[in-house]
Amino acid sequence: MVHAFESVFEKLNVRKVEDLFFKIHPDYVQSVSEVRMEYVQCPACQQHTKQAWVYCFDGDRLQEDVWSICHECQKQFYTLQVGAKLIQKRQDIVDGDWYYINSDDKAGFKNFEELNPELTAAKGKATDYIKDLLEGKIRNLRISGTPGTGKTHLAKAIARTLKHKGRKVAFIESRKLFDNIKNTFGNRVAQERFEKQFADFDLVVLDDVGVETNKAADELSWSSREWVKLIDLRRGKSTVYTTNFDKESLKAVIGARSVSRIGENSETIELFTPDHDYRDRLLY
Ligand SMILES: [Zn+2]
Repeated sequence: MVHAFESVFEKLNVRKVEDLFFKIHPDYVQSVSEVRMEYVQCPACQQHTKQAWVYCFDGDRLQEDVWSICHECQKQFYTLQVGAKLIQKRQDIVDGDWYYINSDDKAGFKNFEELNPELTAAKGKATDYIKDLLEGKIRNLRISGTPGTGKTHLAKAIARTLKHKGRKVAFIESRKLFDNIKNTFGNRVAQERFEKQFADFDLVVLDDVGVETNKAADELSWSSREWVKLIDLRRGKSTVYTTNFDKESLKAVIGARSVSRIGENSETIELFTPDHDYRDRLLY
């Protein structure tokens, strides 16, 4: 503070506090006397740590603020601002890797079309699921159904609602998730960061489970081992899985062990259109 004034004095080529004051207020020369720089009460911390001009104007003691708050409070304010910016920046980086819902994507409960009783029931289950999580319960949710039945819309609505409530949320297609896993191959630091982040979210939504693998036997056995690891990492946390596969078909794709683990402590929403047997088409 003092240093700031000293440099101002130097620039203006003045030596005394009064000289500086009258340089700023040349019209006060006649009416003002006893100009001093004093410490007055800072409105932020209530301490007498804020500098102000104090002077006598026609016999009255008046005060003119130099700063709105004291130097310590300014410093603290700045530190908080920088801290908040850093936290936001870190959050943005994590979101870039894990939260694949565009900011202009408004898929929510309000615009979820309840075209039939099944969809109304599905929406009810999804909102109950959110309520459970907000109450601190740990629950999994599997949303299975034919493409185009609104699974992803519901999953996005869940993710967006909980993120809006301040929870740490990931929303990622399982194909993208597995691409990211492959990108960490041979890089232990990246692998550990991936696992730590994946385990840390309050909620992870894995969209379109089962499309991440081609059906070659060697890749299938690798991806089903990965699924066991991934589901293990989410132990004690809540995870939503959407998939085109019903339970039995999903076993063939990600492994029976994983399907059984997903089913622990779990809700299920099934949205299969009855007009064709979807399972037969998928198990070619
Ligand atoms: Zn202060």
